[in-house]
Amino acid sequence: MEHIKNTTKLIGIKDLNIKIALVLKHKSHIEVRAKLDYPAPACPHCQGKTMKYDFQRPSTIPILDVQGLAAVLKLRKRRFQCKACRRVSVAKTNLVKKHGQISQPVWTKITQLLIEKQTNTDIVNRLQVSVSTVQRQLNAFTLKDNLETLPEILSWEEFERNKGNLAFIAQDFKTKKIIAVLENNRQTTIMKHFYKYSRQAREAIKVVTVDMSGAYIPIIRKLFPRAEIVLDRFHIVQHLSRAMMTTRIAIMKACDKTSLPYRAMKKHWRSLQPALSFLGEA
Ligand SMILES: [Zn+2]
Repeated sequence: MEHIKNTTKLIGIKDLNIKIALVLKHKSHIEVRAKLDYPAPACPHCQGKTMKYDFQRPSTIPILDVQGLAAVLKLRKRRFQCKACRRVSVAKTNLVKKHGQISQPVWTKITQLLIEKQTNTDIVNRLQVSVSTVQRQLNAFTLKDNLETLPEILSWEEFERNKGNLAFIAQDFKTKKIIAVLENNRQTTIMKHFYKYSRQAREAIKVVTVDMSGAYIPIIRKLFPRAEIVLDRFHIVQHLSRAMMTTRIAIMKACDKTSLPYRAMKKHWRSLQPALSFLGEA
């Protein structure tokens, strides 16, 4: 649990230098007016002393939904002027990536929605960002952290990205952490991506789970020579049989040990399903 101290945090803004001035509820969206300000820093050009100047005209940044409505942040950034070289610089925030107008929480949301198998158009409608933004996010989603480690169990899945085009996602099976989101599901794209990892990292993968088609099996063998391949179909069966077992045990616990259902289930535990249907009739 996280203790949220500021209204800004509520709407996904972590930068404490951003202060909300006004929140307006329009018919179609929520508008949050805020200012970005902090003590005058050294001049980025000459390292000289700067002083507070004016505020930039507001830039519009989509942020996380508020009360189920799309929300935008109208952010006015402080400008500083250098006392030595007279040049003007603008206050910085990592809420927005440099040269970008999309806030970090929205990027996160886009990624999340992409994973939830939404089409680009849906995402655009929900978040009020342009198609190119979504596209950019997909392209930017290449792994930048270390190429030395991969999880023990890797899940591969395809998801529909845009009008029937399939994209590719790899996740850590245990933690659900995203390892890769690739623009398409072509084998060359997938191979190229995973060959960026060291052989040692690739050999550390013990299990790869894939969908039922089995089309990926040859490249999985090449990429992860030590991995066992588990088709999701078997996963489902595994989950089912585990659920069956739990149910059977729960029923048995509830029954008298001398009762017919109890004895029947104890004796015929291997044939789980018949045992359960038999109980239904008993
Ligand atoms: Zn200067």
